[in-house]
Amino acid sequence: MSQLKTVSPIDLKVIVERPLVTYSEAEVVLDKSRQAQKKWKSLSLSEREGYILKMLAYFEKHKAVCAEEITLQMGRPSQYSEGELNGMAGRANYMISVAKSALSEIHIPIENGLKRYIQKTPVGTVLVVAPWNYPYLTAVNAIVPALLAGNAVILKHASQTPLCAERFAKAFQFAGLSEGVFQYIHMSHEVTEKLVADHRIHAVAFTGSVGGGYKIKQAAANRFIGINLELGGKDPAYVRSDVNVVETAANLVEGVFFNSGQSCCGVERIYVDASIYPSFVKAFVAETKKLILGDPRQSQTTLGPLVKVSAADFVREQIGEAIKLGAKTLISETDFNVEGFQKNYLAPQVLMDVNHQMSLMTEENFGPVVGIMSVSSDEEAIALMNDSSYGLTASIWSKDITKAERLCAEVETGTCFVNRCDYLDPALAWTGVKDTGIGCSLSVLGFDAFTRPKSIHIRA
Ligand code: NAP
Repeated sequence: MSQLKTVSPIDLKVIVERPLVTYSEAEVVLDKSRQAQKKWKSLSLSEREGYILKMLAYFEKHKAVCAEEITLQMGRPSQYSEGELNGMAGRANYMISVAKSALSEIHIPIENGLKRYIQKTPVGTVLVVAPWNYPYLTAVNAIVPALLAGNAVILKHASQTPLCAERFAKAFQFAGLSEGVFQYIHMSHEVTEKLVADHRIHAVAFTGSVGGGYKIKQAAANRFIGINLELGGKDPAYVRSDVNVVETAANLVEGVFFNSGQSCCGVERIYVDASIYPSFVKAFVAETKKLILGDPRQSQTTLGPLVKVSAADFVREQIGEAIKLGAKTLISETDFNVEGFQKNYLAPQVLMDVNHQMSLMTEENFGPVVGIMSVSSDEEAIALMNDSSYGLTASIWSKDITKAERLCAEVETGTCFVNRCDYLDPALAWTGVKDTGIGCSLSVLGFDAFTRPKSIHIRA
């Protein structure tokens, strides 16, 4: 394949075509990065911050059109698309606010005339590989801290969202960034993997599927470089008996169905205390029925299409398998008029009588479907939450905060929420356990992947 073709989920028509770059063309980009980084790293942190702020100003100025492009490329309902750009600015500004303390030297008290300190030096060129589901929010997590730390960045964006890479380039050009400090490449997996193996790449920040993460790790097998892998999830929620049922159900409906369930930290399985199970399921189904499936460009739509027909087929198969194994669906497709839409538009679905023999409760589906299971104790809930090969986020819903906090300690997860879900706070480390990957982004720790310590030891 030498041509990238992006098909819009809205109507399955080709909306972008671009040539894919060959490895020898990519090598030119690598060399440019190396040259540009030498000057970039010598700027002061506040100078680098200035460029990032101007990049954000570009997005503020072009917010409406960038939001439209998000909807066109990945199908998010237009009423939510500007939120992604606001979120990107929030994350970038937070990283700027902590950059000074995160990147400052660590000085050891002078002893016997010895002056000693540890610097946090940039690694060189960082390759950022980003997914389509939150095309700006995921990319910015790596781009901004990597640049603030003094690195050059090369972005390979998803073939579903190539315009986002091009927008970043325009924004940095608007900011007056020197050529080569930020570049993007539209390239195949094969060329991307060759870049990972190339000595001119010094760190990789990959966000995407577990399968993709393995490939990147294999490509780096002969390299001693940092690989940040932010991969899939199967995020659980546990609802204890003391909650406000209606409020909790409403919160969780949003956590399950926002972005048509195509969120890495979307809730995919819910465990509910048996004493409130019937009332919770009833409230959850009632809230789900309020969703409006439709063309994401229409202002009333709250549930857009899935990114591809194959993604919708995968979810249909999971639901079909669960039904065969005894699950019961609680939503009728006819309530959402799915017949009138392309095959990648899916009605939301809620299933009960589910168990962990069903892939619906164990494999990431990345779609608008959830299984709700009854549990009879905290211990049973924690055991089921941990019965997963993933661990991105988990949520516990309870009025008893002390108890919920104690339960958080038992959950194998990167982030444990109490009374909220499907949320990312840039002040906290974004990380996962098990197959969800390795490393972390955001927070004061989010610079570590893009710096290496250098010790200075002086005898005067
Ligand atoms: P994906 O297929 O792995 O793609 C992600 C990015 O990696 C795209 O740019 C893709 O390029 C590239 N890629 C995939 N395989 C590659 C390979 N072998 N070599 C080089 N590049 C490769 O994932 P996706 O379907 O787009 O995204 C959904 C997944 O991402 C879900 O599992 C979701 O949970 C996860 N995710 C995780 C987080 C997190 O923070 N943990 C955040 C968002 C999404 P192409 O587009 O050209 O294929």
